[in-house]
Amino acid sequence: MTTASHDPDALARETLRLLGPAPDNWVPTHPGIDHNVAVIGGGQTGSAIAFALRRAGIGGTTVIDAAADASQAGVWRTRARMHKLRTPKNLVGPELGIAALGFQAWYEGRHGADAYAALDRIPRTAWADYLAWFREFLAIDVRYGTRLLRIEPVPGTPVPHLRLHLEVQGQPRIETARKLVLANGVAGNGAPFVPPFLAAAVDAGLAAHTGHAIDFAALAGKTVAVIGAAASAFDAAAVALEAGAAAVHLFARRDHIAARPVAKLRGYPGVYDNYLALPDATRWQQALRYRRAGSTPPADSLARVLQFPQFHLHLSAPWGAARVQGEHVLTQVHGEDFRFDFVIAGTGYSTDPSERAELAGIAPQVLRWRDRFAPPADQRDDALGASPYLGAGLEYLEKTPGSAPWLRHIHVYNPAGFASVGVPLGDVPSMRRDIPALVRRLSEDLALADLPLHEARITGDVPPDFDATLYGQALWHGRAPATEPTPA
Ligand SMILES: Cc1cc2nc3c(=O)[nH]c(=O)nc-3n(C[C@H](O)[C@H](O)[C@H](O)COP(=O)(O)OP(=O)(O)OC[C@H]3O[C@@H](n4cnc5c(N)ncnc54)[C@H](O)[C@@H]3O)c2cc1C
Repeated sequence: MTTASHDPDALARETLRLLGPAPDNWVPTHPGIDHNVAVIGGGQTGSAIAFALRRAGIGGTTVIDAAADASQAGVWRTRARMHKLRTPKNLVGPELGIAALGFQAWYEGRHGADAYAALDRIPRTAWADYLAWFREFLAIDVRYGTRLLRIEPVPGTPVPHLRLHLEVQGQPRIETARKLVLANGVAGNGAPFVPPFLAAAVDAGLAAHTGHAIDFAALAGKTVAVIGAAASAFDAAAVALEAGAAAVHLFARRDHIAARPVAKLRGYPGVYDNYLALPDATRWQQALRYRRAGSTPPADSLARVLQFPQFHLHLSAPWGAARVQGEHVLTQVHGEDFRFDFVIAGTGYSTDPSERAELAGIAPQVLRWRDRFAPPADQRDDALGASPYLGAGLEYLEKTPGSAPWLRHIHVYNPAGFASVGVPLGDVPSMRRDIPALVRRLSEDLALADLPLHEARITGDVPPDFDATLYGQALWHGRAPATEPTPA
């Protein structure tokens, strides 16, 4: 039996020692350019990318996060309300396959192998603790309180770059970067989708999206509606019930909750590994199939709400309208009138960059799926069509060729890439495949932009490590003439 070690990080420390130091930075600095790579978002994605860049010898990087501090960054201690991650516990995570830096090694170092074996899925707070450890142990520096507001291209010399309009601790500031990675979360390329009929209720403080901060304590004794049947909707319902809500009604559009069979892409290497090579029509059909099937909650999320007799489930019950009357939201579903004190919309996120403040200025130039692929009428989906059509390095492409070549220096690592790559970028299942691919492309673009310099470095006069005196004594100078024996 394995027991927790006195030094829970011994294995990680030893592994780093055996890995050896990261390569020296090979990316040159250029006057007027602050960063080779700026990563927007210091959650699990931003941290993993920072580590991978370091191991690729790409220096001059920065990671910024709008959150005031580490406890506010990412979803795990803020908007994620489930007890356990939904993804399996054994997927490759931010350690990118260096197992000693992964969740299992971290957990076993603290709780033992048996405790890990006993986990069915990873507890959410343990995952958050692990990510904090990952960042601190690997000394990944995140500049908190630093928000990207706007991106502006600078075509010029010596290399094209981007001007980043930031807000740093409330003050405006401009920094420049050659490459930008949007590791900015589920709404990073769009916005929480709030059905238009709820807008007035949101404005009146009587409704909120699951992606927003919600004062659950204030829901004690209240009658609450939750719209949506994905996991986040059930989790919000659970927290409202645990906070003492008098009743929670969850309204699902679909007629079932249990998962319909939707193939798990990540478990099928033939497609997962080759997704970008699939025809557009196939990728569109897959994305659409997922969207239409809807994401389903794990059984334990259901069990959590089913303990409460005041939880009520409405199937095939879409809301078509709602209105605010005094302190209440009124609606009618299947001819029945309902009156709620508060409504929570678990209605997902859009992936349209024009809905994201920092991207709205460049959105008109970004190639979208609707510009590239015209689905048959029965496969039309305008929301999916608004998502960006990404290149193989997860970069934006130009809507009009030649009009905005700088877009290829903005790389998207958030779920807006779903239609292009087949998994929500940022979720754990994306990390094994997509972070190495991204870093590979960043490396390639940075290298090619300075090719003459790199050629000079690898072909230039490099003094030899030693001279001929080292081996001079062994040099063969020809056989010495035979000498006659001296007569006695
Ligand atoms: C409720 C919920 C449950 C989930 N459960 C799972 C799960 O079980 N398994 C799974 O794999 N995935 C899950 N996900 C998806 C989850 O979002 C990702 O796995 C994970 O959070 C992605 O990490 P990230 O670093 O990409 O994004 P985030 O953790 O969201 O971090 C993004 C960071 O970007 C920062 N940021 C955003 N905009 C700016 C800006 N303009 N300037 C500076 N900083 C900015 C934010 O402050 C934030 O800290 C869940 C998501 C939600 C919302």
